Amino acid sequence: MKKVLIVEDEKTISDIIKVNLLKEGYSIIQAYDGKQALEIYKDENPDLILLDVMLPYIDGFQVCRKIREKSNIPIVMLTAKEEEVDKVLGLELGADDYITKPFGMRELIARVKANIRRVEIDSNVEEILTNEKIIKSADLVIDLNRYEVRKNENIIELTKREFELLTFLASQDTQVFTREQLLKDVWGYEYFGDIRTVDVTVRRMREKIEEDSSNPKFIMTKRGVGYYFRRI
Ligand code: CA
Repeated sequence: MKKVLIVEDEKTISDIIKVNLLKEGYSIIQAYDGKQALEIYKDENPDLILLDVMLPYIDGFQVCRKIREKSNIPIVMLTAKEEEVDKVLGLELGADDYITKPFGMRELIARVKANIRRVEIDSNVEEILTNEKIIKSADLVIDLNRYEVRKNENIIELTKREFELLTFLASQDTQVFTREQLLKDVWGYEYFGDIRTVDVTVRRMREKIEEDSSNPKFIMTKRGVGYYFRRI
């Protein structure tokens, strides 16, 4: 049985989520503030954390950062404001996903499932890449042995998801993927993924690896379709 830790100070919301996830066969632990979340996390070792941003004592961002120092556990942030989305997807935080409030229960359940399945998806992506351990395009080097990306010998800091998206595209270069395909293959969502997640991740990735992110030469847009990687 997979264990989900719900960190949410509004007890009504927390309980509704709990009831719905119990029905799906998950076991549930609840924390009502950031401090409690960190304590419970340590004792209970959950499989996924649903983490509200606005929490008493320690906010969700700090909780996420703290847990990420030691663990790769899937963390899905619950955000109430549009401005929080960019921060959630940022490198400094290391969250895997977010859901904006108000959200539907079906969507939430789908996200929980997808992110718990992420571990399998990760190994799928790795499997695709087993044939080729180093991918080069001009001065960009994707080194799968060391799990790092370098440009002109400088290491580029990418989030785990950015790295996975880049390697997924690069290992099948010239093939165009729709946003829906990328959500399915890299994020693991079937129906409920937010297309914006792909665009935001691509934008952030371009800012890091492209010389001119408005005129990219590696991560290419196929207008009206999706994205592909170009090998130079
Ligand atoms: Ca809250």
